[in-house]
Amino acid sequence: MNEPDKTSHCIILHYSEIGLKGGNRKTFEAQLMSNIRTALKGIIKVHVARGYGRFLIDLPEVFDWPTICQRLKKVVGLANFALAEAHRQDIDEILPSAVRQMGRLNYDSFAVVTRRVQKAFPLRSNEISTKVGAASQAQSDARVDRKNPDVACHIEIFDDRAVVYCEKIAGLRGLPVGTGERAVSLLSSGIDSPVASWKIITRGVKLTFVHFHSAPFTSMASLNNTKRLVEILTEYQYTSKLYAIPFLEIQQAIMMNAKPEYRVVLYRRAMIRIAEIVAKKNRANALVTGESIGQVASQTLSNMRMISEVTSLPILRPISGSDKEEIIKTARVIDTFEISTEPYEDCCSLFVPKHPVTRSVPAIVYEAESKIDMEALLGNALKNAEVSQYKFPPEN
Ligand code: ATP
Ligand code: MG
Repeated sequence: MNEPDKTSHCIILHYSEIGLKGGNRKTFEAQLMSNIRTALKGIIKVHVARGYGRFLIDLPEVFDWPTICQRLKKVVGLANFALAEAHRQDIDEILPSAVRQMGRLNYDSFAVVTRRVQKAFPLRSNEISTKVGAASQAQSDARVDRKNPDVACHIEIFDDRAVVYCEKIAGLRGLPVGTGERAVSLLSSGIDSPVASWKIITRGVKLTFVHFHSAPFTSMASLNNTKRLVEILTEYQYTSKLYAIPFLEIQQAIMMNAKPEYRVVLYRRAMIRIAEIVAKKNRANALVTGESIGQVASQTLSNMRMISEVTSLPILRPISGSDKEEIIKTARVIDTFEISTEPYEDCCSLFVPKHPVTRSVPAIVYEAESKIDMEALLGNALKNAEVSQYKFPPEN
């Protein structure tokens, strides 16, 4: 918590305007504003003021900046944000605020960046920057470096205010969740599918999750880990639904009717068929998987083609072109890596042959499936699915 003082504080938030036009921009802004409100629910009452690629939130006298900051870092669509001092549009308030804030920092070079949306303000942007720059230089001896400064002091003049801040925090960027329709993500408790899911969420798409488990044959560890992963991913999209689907019966039917090396492709085809039904129920227009080309023998183009064939929905494979190191890096950033690497018995790792086929022959796949009453099995699995709902923040 900050110590109450006389200065009024606000949060200034910027989003990237690139590619935003007409109605598109309105939808983007409205959704982002609503998501910011949800993200900060329970911490501060938010009234978001809008203006020219930025939002402004007035802060009360006492506020918990670390928590606010943590929440805002997960709001998709923000380019950056900062804790700022809010002043009247008066150079005699702006100048001391800038000098005071700069005085708290260590730097050898600095720049003053003034943006003046309110053209009525009597001083031009560069006049303000020059005045503030001269005052800061008198205090610090630092040199001005407009291209690559250690510290940039920002002054923004718009609406009825002047806001001043020196520490800009990078946002997640991407598109606000809710602007991009819905998809169903096949979420295992491995490393890849949480990262794939997150990448799609950052494109504004809201996900519904499906997870397949082989209980009671396997322990519930994999399902429990998946639930923890859904909790983490919900921090980016605020509400989630997870379908935990029993898969054992389907696996047994496949094991009895297909050659061992064909099992993985057949499991995946069954999973996609179920995910498609879940998608229809939830008005989702795509599926998401964590497949990455060539990462394991089953993830070849021929096999992906056989897997994609069972659905008319597009299957998004956002990490198909990423290598493992890149994927792990993201998993660490979003905090899913630890959970994904806990030892567990995955429904598929148990029943997977040593050498899955790399180029499945369609006729062999169809022949095996013709011996299985797939429709009945899929229906049964869905009937026994456990559906759970998630919310973030808890007050939401
Ligand atoms: P992950 O790290 O996501 O488990 P992986 O590299 O282990 O991926 P596979 O096990 O071949 O790859 O699975 C490929 C994709 O199929 C997964 O990324 C996921 O989208 C989906 N999938 C696999 N197992 C399950 C499961 N038990 N429940 C839901 N989806 C699954
Ligand atoms: Mg896996």
